[in-house]
Amino acid sequence: MLNIVLFGPPGAGKGTQSVKLVEKFGLVHLSTGDVFRYNIKHETELGKLAKSFIDKGNLVPDEVTIDILKREVEKHPITKGFIFDGFPRTITQAIALDTFLNTKNTSIALMLALQVDENELVKRLLIRGKDSGRADDTDERIIRNRINVYNEQTSVAAEFYNTQGKYHAINGTGKVDEIFERLTESIEQILGKSS
Ligand code: ADP
Repeated sequence: MLNIVLFGPPGAGKGTQSVKLVEKFGLVHLSTGDVFRYNIKHETELGKLAKSFIDKGNLVPDEVTIDILKREVEKHPITKGFIFDGFPRTITQAIALDTFLNTKNTSIALMLALQVDENELVKRLLIRGKDSGRADDTDERIIRNRINVYNEQTSVAAEFYNTQGKYHAINGTGKVDEIFERLTESIEQILGKSS
């Protein structure tokens, strides 16, 4: 299996690139943010809980998020692999993911970390907020809080993969297709090594 963590701050382009990677490599895309938004839309209990954190730009608690992620993985017993988008976002989540994948006799092959500077992120998110209807993308204070949360709680997860030799930084600025090329090159290197 080929399991990839697509990493980066809010607005780095994880969702956009995931769609293209899924198409090229035939992987399953798992976005915890998408699962939360689906539940918010359908006003489930999980949705109500998630909304109370997301609207402030904070993380949904680990125990809730980890359970959701496991449930999503279990829905795809047969697949070439997964793209994890927006997960893990804490060290606790990273450890839980490793342990869980171990029980399935698989593991993360690589973390691709999109690098984009903060002003560019805010600009992109405010533009996205205009037509996405995402409440967390319309208020600059909430956007800045999400970026702070990323810097304080999430970026450390990269170190977890770095010590395993799985971390690859990718320049996340430029045209969508150029960034996709960079991601594809890193993945193909890994595929080359394993075959
Ligand atoms: P973005 O990358 O633009 O912030 P996401 O769709 O990945 O968008 O996440 C939206 C929100 O959902 C996050 O700000 C956070 O509140 C919540 N969320 C998503 N994934 C996680 C996670 N793995 N752990 C905790 N909260 C999460």
